[in-house]
Amino acid sequence: TAKAQGHPVLVHEQAADEKSSHKLVLLSDLRRGISRRELVLHYQPKIDIGSGALVGAEALVRWNHPELGFVPPDRFIPIAEQTGLIHPLTHYVLDAALVQARTWQQAGTPVRVAVNLSARNLLNDELPGQIAELLTANGVSAALLELEVTESAIMTDPQRARRVLNELAGMGIGLSIDDFGTGYTSIGQLRHLPVHELKIDRSFVTALATDATDAMIVRSIVELGHNLGLSIVAEGVEDDATRCVLAGVGCDIAQGFGISRPLPAGRFDEWMAAYEA
Ligand code: C2E
Ligand code: CA
Ligand code: CA
Ligand code: CA
Repeated sequence: TAKAQGHPVLVHEQAADEKSSHKLVLLSDLRRGISRRELVLHYQPKIDIGSGALVGAEALVRWNHPELGFVPPDRFIPIAEQTGLIHPLTHYVLDAALVQARTWQQAGTPVRVAVNLSARNLLNDELPGQIAELLTANGVSAALLELEVTESAIMTDPQRARRVLNELAGMGIGLSIDDFGTGYTSIGQLRHLPVHELKIDRSFVTALATDATDAMIVRSIVELGHNLGLSIVAEGVEDDATRCVLAGVGCDIAQGFGISRPLPAGRFDEWMAAYEA
């Protein structure tokens, strides 16, 4: 096939293992896609539950593949993570997010952007220096950047991860624990991490308004987090009933389709202009 000709080393692979060859095709395409800037960021608002104020936006990467069309991050981030490609990918995403942060700042509507990091990024001693360079190059203050890391990413190598996180926090960057509740972070470990925010995993939030167990879990996380001085975000807020329960248990920030889907920057601007807290 034309595809096999384009990727001669894969012919054997394709016969042997259709799925892993597909992965390799994506991998070589991804390397090219990053250099051709085919990856784009969408932004999803985070709002203060009490006041309704916009407090930030999470940057979520999408790949506009020339033949496959739109490829969601769950399809290519894991592949990038298995190879070194996650490093240039994260660098690309950070740069794009900071360019956008600068644009918002210059427009007089500053928005704090949150970027997701992978486990391998946390083991990279050079990451803090690279981020410092990107902040300087884009003229953006560290206060406008937030980084989201999962519990499992930290647990890969807690000592090394903590070193990198301490350095990032020392630069004035906000750190957030993503997908909280799905990993095994103990309270003891949490106390020693320089984080300012917990994001409760979507799986506990979706059915919050109707599921008593989920409500109890969320209430406990909010209480635990507040006792540690952390701000609590609920992700996956899809409707007003859920938002109401969250307000009732004292959750600080909400994010989800019920507020807005992730949007390309231009549409995010329209959303901001029309939004009334
Ligand atoms: P995540 O960091 O947990 O991001 C939240 C995901 O939930 C996003 O999916 C978002 O579109 C989706 N979501 C937001 N609100 C709702 C809702 O109300 N209901 C439902 N059902 N879903 C909602 P997305 O954009 O497909 O990203 C999936 C995952 O890919 C992210 O999960 C994150 O782990 C990873 N990812 C995305 N962008 C990046 C990136 O730039 N770098 C890295 N390392 N990972 C990324
Ligand atoms: Ca995230
Ligand atoms: Ca999450
Ligand atoms: Ca997730």
